[in-house]
Formats: sequence, structure tokens, C-alpha cells
Amino acid sequence: MKVRTVNLLVMLGLASCLAFALLAGCALFGVRGKPDSSAAIRSDTAAIWAFYGGLGDAPQVLIVEPEESTCTAPTGFPGFEAYVLVDDRFMRVCREGYTLLPDRVSVVRRPDMRTSALRHELMHLRFIQEGIIDPGHERPEWRPGGQVDRARDVMSGP
Ligand SMILES: [Zn+2]
Repeated sequence: MKVRTVNLLVMLGLASCLAFALLAGCALFGVRGKPDSSAAIRSDTAAIWAFYGGLGDAPQVLIVEPEESTCTAPTGFPGFEAYVLVDDRFMRVCREGYTLLPDRVSVVRRPDMRTSALRHELMHLRFIQEGIIDPGHERPEWRPGGQVDRARDVMSGP
């Protein structure tokens, strides 16, 4: 079964999300969480963004607290509901991270943010900035030892 994460709803264009927002809000797609103003997450996000060669300011990180989680992600950790395209149909799934809008990511907080979805989602955003859609994680950056893995080293830890 071919799964294309909706990280990638960008494929449908933000316009469709904005139009949909009139009815239900982008939150329905999985844009969740509250802006996090902690120095640690801000500096980690800036460090990862620089490591990825991101354009402009580091994105905003919307944090979903574990107690706000609504489901268990495939990782076994708390997650939230998002939508992915499966065989051209939307399917509700549970994820620890989500990227839809070009300037922010949603991530569930973990005690050690180095193990969270932050690095992963920021890479999706980095690709989106370049017009690269890689929902299947086929590019080398995702592979073991690739840039997403190595970004862990620029983070400050728990
Ligand atoms: Zn992904």
C-alpha cells in the first residue's frame, strides 16, 4: 500500500487548506500544538535549521504536550491525529509530528527532544521550501546516518 504523508498536503496547495479552514480549520489536518517559547527548543530548532541550510528564520515549533495527545503513534509514543493520503484517499492516522504550513511544524514533546519528531519535521519543511515533495522519505537525507540522523548532534539534549 502506497502511503503519502500529508506533510504533503502541500501538494494540494495551501489554498485548499485555507479554503477548508473556513469550514473546519487546518487543525483537522493535523496542524496542532501551541507555540513553544522555551530557550532550549528555540535554540535547537535554530541549530537544526542552520544545519539543514534552511532559508530565512527558523520555523515556529508548535508543541503538543503528551497529556494533550489523543492517540498512540506507530512509534508507541503519544501522538495526535493527522491525515495522510493512502491510495488517493484521505486516511486518519496517529503521528508524533506533522508539517503542513511552510513556516511551522507540530511536534509532540518528548522528555528528550533529540528523540522527538522535530528533526524529521524540520527536514520536511526544508524540502518544502525547495519545492521538493518526498512523503515516502526516499531521499538520502532520511537514511540511517543521513542528515536527519546527524542533526541530533547539533541539539542540546534534555
Ligand atoms: Zn515524514
